[in-house]
Amino acid sequence: MNRISWDQYFMTQSHLLSLRSTCTRLAVGATIVRDKRIIAGGYNGSIAGGVHCADEGCYVIDNHCVRTVHAEVNALLQCAKFGAKTEGAEMYVTHFPCLHCCKAIIQSGITAVYYAQEYKNHPYAVELFQQAGVKVRHVPLAYTVTTLEEKDMASQLRDLLSTVDEQTEPEDLWRLLQEAKQLLKR
Ligand SMILES: [Zn+2]
Ligand SMILES: [Zn+2]
Repeated sequence: MNRISWDQYFMTQSHLLSLRSTCTRLAVGATIVRDKRIIAGGYNGSIAGGVHCADEGCYVIDNHCVRTVHAEVNALLQCAKFGAKTEGAEMYVTHFPCLHCCKAIIQSGITAVYYAQEYKNHPYAVELFQQAGVKVRHVPLAYTVTTLEEKDMASQLRDLLSTVDEQTEPEDLWRLLQEAKQLLKR
């Protein structure tokens, strides 16, 4: 039976969360898991009720957007807010955590970090994780999150392409090409 693995399931969930990000510089999602159950999740965004980077532009200081709370910290704060123990839990995150998040992750007792994409990978963060005995593993995403519209478009394109071999006239091929371009424009 072909089932999605737990690693991919949680990693896909983090990527789904990243679609909620309000910062235009980078969209990050994080999922905290205990005993194969999701206990919290977060994405990088402004404080509740604050203005969004997507609306007002990023607030950049020293090449960092300072408006947002990072996904990893948001997930940990959700645990603090609603009273879920983080000690011994694991985190799935779309990008390798920054130094600040690395320290928050270690300090909250998270024992493993699974990340999908390399992101600057600060050497001190790598060292701190190692020192603290936090397992760090690269789990590249094997599934993508697509909208139903995209799925519909792909199937229409496939139908269109399946008729290419039957066309012998250049005008018909030209018409097919225009139809395909029109589909992609939608
Ligand atoms: Zn921003
Ligand atoms: Zn961070």
